[in-house]
Amino acid sequence: MRIAILKEARPDETRVALTAEAVKSLTGKGAGVTIESGAGLNAGISDAEYEAAGAVISGNRAELLATADVLPVVNLLPDSDQAQLKSGAVVVGFLRPLDDPGAFQTAVARGATLFAVELVPRITRAQSMDALSSMATVAGYKAVIVAADRLPKLFPLLMTAAGTIPPAKVLVLGAGVAGLQAIATARRLGAVVEAYDVRAAAGEQVKSLGAKFIEVDLGGLQTEDKGGYAKELSPEALELGRQAIARAAKVSDVVITTAQVPGRRAPLMIPTAAVEDMHPGSIIFDLAAPAGGNCELTKPGETVVHKGVIILGPLNLAAEMPVHASMLYSRNLTKFLDLIVKKGELVIDRADEIIAGSCVAHGGQVVNERVAAAIKARA
Ligand code: NAD
Repeated sequence: MRIAILKEARPDETRVALTAEAVKSLTGKGAGVTIESGAGLNAGISDAEYEAAGAVISGNRAELLATADVLPVVNLLPDSDQAQLKSGAVVVGFLRPLDDPGAFQTAVARGATLFAVELVPRITRAQSMDALSSMATVAGYKAVIVAADRLPKLFPLLMTAAGTIPPAKVLVLGAGVAGLQAIATARRLGAVVEAYDVRAAAGEQVKSLGAKFIEVDLGGLQTEDKGGYAKELSPEALELGRQAIARAAKVSDVVITTAQVPGRRAPLMIPTAAVEDMHPGSIIFDLAAPAGGNCELTKPGETVVHKGVIILGPLNLAAEMPVHASMLYSRNLTKFLDLIVKKGELVIDRADEIIAGSCVAHGGQVVNERVAAAIKARA
């Protein structure tokens, strides 16, 4: 059985799906691993390091595509690569199965088996495979570092001979994995932090990190699904949140927004009027930009300056920390591969909850109901 790692095709991608550490573990278990020359360079891994870990290096992408049994990827392969896949090949990675379900039709038609890491169920046994949490951790940290760099103010309280400088005020919207990491990072830099989330359970976690939790009375509304994710809110409940957020944003130097509802456009939390109430020089870092953004003025992939407020909406923030993002992602994928590679052979047990939950396509068919519905809705 041959595992292949290709150079990522997306122009802004710097991560690699498997690091040398993972290659060593896989080759040690009897799998053959081939790396397209240069695939790890942006993540700080040379061909020589991969070779030392037991991989074969190849410059022949077409041959890799035609012969690989398993292709761990960061992003979905482009259509032209999908068309060259060996029938029955396994592709595992961020496939954006609900956001862009049309993009893997060529691979489905080739009979590829596709696993989307986004759909790995959030059960205890799959925690070590949770690539969404890994990338959210990296992004939450990086957002605060970038915001601190852009802010024309210091973050910590400073008492100097010239007087006292007050600490920066940071507001975090959405206290999931990225939001909690943003809170912890901003606290470490000395900022005073407030946070808001619709899930009441997030309140305790926010407070345990030394931040204030903004309480909004939603009248006992059920805000969380059984998977622990936020539900899509009614317009009335969203508006109550927006009012509390606008009051807090007005006195904040930095607002980090992370609120998302899986499979939906990100909820609108900061309307233009709330941005216009903020001080010039303040920063909104919209981590929900890939899902449309939490701020009305966010332009995904761009930086907007509106009446002096800077609004950042990066589309691939984890790729700005490629070494550790790749390290975490590669560990997540290695744990997933342990499920489907046994003694160097591919064994797909479709009765396994993790395999069943994350499998998007198999044997020429889309096998995930939500993905099939998303494809139908777009047809
Ligand atoms: P996410 O990226 O989907 O959303 C980020 C946050 O935005 C969430 O906390 C969500 O509640 C919040 N949000 C959504 N709509 C909102 C709105 N209108 N107003 C305010 N906040 C809003 O979520 P995530 O970070 O991936 O994780 C969500 C939950 O899943 C958390 O409880 C997390 O601890 C849990 N989780 C569980 C596991 C596991 O393996 N059991 C793994 C990772 C995360």
